[in-house]
Amino acid sequence: MTGPGPLFGPDPADVGASGAWDDDVFPPGALVAVQTTQPLDRTLDYKAPEGGVRLGAYVEVPLGPRKVLGVVWGPGAGDFDRSKIRTVSRVLDAAPMRDELREFLQRAADYTLTPMPAMLRLATRAPGLGDPPSMRKVYRLGEGEPARMTDARIRVIEVLEEHGGHQGPAFTLKELAELAGVTPSVVKGLVDAGAVREEESPRDMPFPRLDPSRPSKDLTEGQEAAAEVLREEARSDTYGTTLLKGVTGSGKTEVYLEAVAAALAAGKQALVLLPEIALTAEFITRVEARFGARPAEWHSGVTMTERRRVWRMVGEGEADLVVGARSALFLPFQRLGLIVVDEEHDTSYKQEDGVLYNARDMAVLRAAICGARVVLASATPSLESWANAEAGKYRRLDLPARFGASQLPEMRTIDMRAERLQPGHWISPTLRQAVSQRLEKGEQSLLFINRRGFAPVTLCRACGEQVACPHCDARMVEHRFLKRLMCHQCGTTMPVPDVCPSCKVEGKMTAVGPGIERLAEEAAALFPDAKQAVLSSDLFGSARALKAAIEEIAAGSADIILGTQLVAKGHNFPLLTLVGVIDADLGLQGSDLRAAERTFQLMRQVAGRAGRAERPGVALLQTYQPEHPVIRAILGGDEEAFWAAEAAERQQAGVPPYGRMAGIILSGTDVAQVFDLGEALARNDAPMRQIGAQVFGPAPAPIARIRGRHRVRLLVKADKGAPLQAALARWLAPVRPKGDLRLAVDIDPQSFL
Ligand code: ADP
Ligand code: ZN
Repeated sequence: MTGPGPLFGPDPADVGASGAWDDDVFPPGALVAVQTTQPLDRTLDYKAPEGGVRLGAYVEVPLGPRKVLGVVWGPGAGDFDRSKIRTVSRVLDAAPMRDELREFLQRAADYTLTPMPAMLRLATRAPGLGDPPSMRKVYRLGEGEPARMTDARIRVIEVLEEHGGHQGPAFTLKELAELAGVTPSVVKGLVDAGAVREEESPRDMPFPRLDPSRPSKDLTEGQEAAAEVLREEARSDTYGTTLLKGVTGSGKTEVYLEAVAAALAAGKQALVLLPEIALTAEFITRVEARFGARPAEWHSGVTMTERRRVWRMVGEGEADLVVGARSALFLPFQRLGLIVVDEEHDTSYKQEDGVLYNARDMAVLRAAICGARVVLASATPSLESWANAEAGKYRRLDLPARFGASQLPEMRTIDMRAERLQPGHWISPTLRQAVSQRLEKGEQSLLFINRRGFAPVTLCRACGEQVACPHCDARMVEHRFLKRLMCHQCGTTMPVPDVCPSCKVEGKMTAVGPGIERLAEEAAALFPDAKQAVLSSDLFGSARALKAAIEEIAAGSADIILGTQLVAKGHNFPLLTLVGVIDADLGLQGSDLRAAERTFQLMRQVAGRAGRAERPGVALLQTYQPEHPVIRAILGGDEEAFWAAEAAERQQAGVPPYGRMAGIILSGTDVAQVFDLGEALARNDAPMRQIGAQVFGPAPAPIARIRGRHRVRLLVKADKGAPLQAALARWLAPVRPKGDLRLAVDIDPQSFL
């Protein structure tokens, strides 16, 4: 191990000082190299337009008959026939891309072996980037009193008053009508009456300033100590990463909001990444309470016009804080000082489609390039981050206790070998009794199973046929509330067949195995008088609906909560005192190198839902293998010992974070062609052998068929210090996949099943 960089992911120590290029202007007619978003493997030369163009400027350039988006990347290469070189068509009205972002994109592309155009598309994912500023109508509280008041009119006025009245923000017609639950004509009526004012305002409004000087909660001594370290770091102008570890409910969010406050007070921008959109609503409420205004939001649930506004305002420094999904890392921040990656262990930070990158590692890279701080927050860090902290590459701060009098729940197993259960039932008598006790005391129970739908398998009892997706190698999952079977890979649905598709026998199709909906059915039968609530990501149309449901449940609207993975992530249920894990063994099956780590994290996170307030909780894990080392580690709660043992095992096996891996994923509609390409690659693996790497496969990829495309994977394993990317580039450069064959490289792959 050398240098100060992390054990895993790109090494910040390799980052050079950015040149001070920002002022460079190319005079009219000068040759400039433009990186476009088109799939070309090089930059193209153009002449700078009248008025010149800055390095980093977003431009439109002619390419064949079209105009395409690009960024001025540097001086022209000069290897084209000068007389044929065309002129930049238009310089877009947006702040030029900073050196620091160009360098980040380049290094991220090199690390993930992603072509630059794909990288640039990630950084320009906002529609109408260069459109001139346009105006739109907005509505705010007026001075007049309408002659006639209706309930609907009162609701509109109330919404405006709740949002700060005359000082508050203006809303679009649609927003205001939606918030008040009225039709737009009600708002229009109030405009006519003078009670609401209609104004013209620029479409891309700056975000309201957040006020970091507003008071925080009174932090406990332990919280304050951690917060003070983070504040000081956030004020500094140098790179560093800190792992903030603390059990669920210990106040990690309160503490890292202090780092955000310090960054904002120092005039910097901050970014908070959350693993799931469903979590943003609650978090934004907390930001608003702490800083007096809402941050910018960036994720797939944000409208196109709002995306454009966020992109532009972040680029102009008119958004202090962005809360978002992993792709927010590619926004054009002007003075990024802090990146928080909350629930840093969460697997959804790894993008598994398109550009394959891990947002946690890319956050560290981006911060290293622009001299920002990173806070990785988790109750159960990834082994990678734990090891980086052990090795002294990351600083580590621990929040040992839960806030208030609340304690972590006691954890026990229920040995399923000793329980009597009827076929088709999953709630053991022991668990049933525990739930009954909670019901008597008026406390909440959570039954957890990490499987959506009614049943994972639909099987014909006559011939044994299992209903599979016609396009994927996946079983169709019954969703009873949709009354259909659904493929969790591609979303294909079909009616639940009455006749077996294979043997044509009627009336023998049976649901096998438990899913959340089926568990709900069982619980309803066992506890007919209890109020139930089911929390599964597919049951909610929007993050807002989910947030509303969670708030109601937290307030006590349900006696029994049935939940999938969704409930494990950071929601507060103060009345909850029992967590029953239906199948603690689920994640331990299979050959995933991170199976133990994931089960450990998930079980501890789920258990952390119980006993948050002043009521002690208990977590009961149903398992058929109570002696399994992972189950014992979960119960023992000796996390450091668990990680140390896990680390030793991986070190022994030479796998991440102590070795390097890459997946080569080949796909196509003709399975023979896909395998042929894989075998050809495996035969010609000299560039990999030269660096001492091993190539395994080709073998069917973790999901062997998606949307009708067959997928085959080669796995590469190399030593920690091996120049993996360079060798992969040499190995794969000559490959030109024909027809509909595709090749993708997955550095640091996460799925191995
Ligand atoms: P974590 O992020 O570690 O799960 P949170 O920051 O969400 O923890 O804190 C858990 C709950 O306890 C939240 O409702 C939070 O507002 C509350 N809390 C934490 N610390 C304090 C404090 N010092 N004063 C008041 N409330 C606190
Ligand atoms: Zn499918």
